[in-house]
Amino acid sequence: MISRNDLCWCDSGKKWKKCHFPVKGGSGPFQERAKKFLKQYGIVLKTPDQIEGIRRSCKLAANILDTLCHKAKAGVTTDELNTIAEELIAKAGAKAAPLGYGNPPFPKSICTSLNDVICHGIPDDRPLQEGDIMNIDVTCILGGYFGDCSKMVIIGQTTEEKKRVVDVSYECLMRSIAICKPGVLISEIGDVIEAVAKEHNCSVVNQFVGHGVGLQFHEAPQVPHHTNRIAIPLEEGMTFTIEPMINAGERGAEIDSTDQWTAYTVDRKPSAQWEHTILITATGHEILTKSSCGCSHH
Ligand SMILES: [Zn+2]
Ligand SMILES: [Zn+2]
Repeated sequence: MISRNDLCWCDSGKKWKKCHFPVKGGSGPFQERAKKFLKQYGIVLKTPDQIEGIRRSCKLAANILDTLCHKAKAGVTTDELNTIAEELIAKAGAKAAPLGYGNPPFPKSICTSLNDVICHGIPDDRPLQEGDIMNIDVTCILGGYFGDCSKMVIIGQTTEEKKRVVDVSYECLMRSIAICKPGVLISEIGDVIEAVAKEHNCSVVNQFVGHGVGLQFHEAPQVPHHTNRIAIPLEEGMTFTIEPMINAGERGAEIDSTDQWTAYTVDRKPSAQWEHTILITATGHEILTKSSCGCSHH
C-alpha cells in the first residue's frame, strides 16, 4: 500500500504527499471521501486521470491475455507463451508486474497454473497436453498504472471434474462482480462466491485473495473470496481485483518448497481461477479488463 511518504506513483521522484496525493488543495466531496477512505482503510480512491491510466493498462493486459489464450494449444510450452507475452508487453512500452516481484523474485513475466496448481505457476518447458486446464495471469504496468486479469484455457477435451471447476470459477467471478456498487460490503463478495461454489460441490481457496490494484500491484483492500467479515463498503473510485480460486476437492493450498511460488491443491485435485480488475462507479461497476476479442471463449 502506498503511504504519504513513499515516492509518488507517477515517477516524479517527489513524495506522494507532495505530488498526486488526492486531498492536496481540495475540499470537494471527492476529496472528503478520499481522505476518509485513506485514513480509515488505507484505500486510495482514484481520480479521473488515474482511472484513465488504469483503464489503458487494463485494456493492454486483457488484449495480451486474449492473444495468449489463442496461442495455447497442445504441444506449445508455457515458456513459449511467456516469451510471446514479453514481446507484446515490450512492444506496448509496458512492463510485466510479476517479473522480479516478491521474495524470492518471481522469475517470469506471466503466471501459468495448470490442473492441480491453484495459482503462481511458473512457465517452463513442459508442452501443454490434451486435457490440461490452465490459468494464464497477466499484469501489465503501463505509464505507471497496473492492470491485472486472468483466464482459464482448456486444451482439447478434458474431464467432467476439470470442466466443472473451470465453469464454476467463472460463474463465481461474474456473479460476484454483478453485485458490486457503492455501499455493498466487501464481505458480500465472498458470500456470493461461497454460495455458488457450494451449490456446485466445489471449495473456495482462502489462502489467496483479490486486492486493490492500479497505482501498485497490490494495494488495500484485500478482497477475500471465502466467507469473511470485512465490513468495508465499496465506494466510487475504488479499483480492485476479484479472482476466485475454486477447487474440485478440499480448499487447502500448499506452496512448492523448491520454487516457493507454485501453489498446489493439498489433495492434488484440479483448481481453476478467473480474474478481472474492476472499477466502482457512481451507480455500479465497470469491468476494466473486459475482453474485446469477441470469440466464443469468455
Ligand atoms: Zn491479482
Ligand atoms: Zn492476476
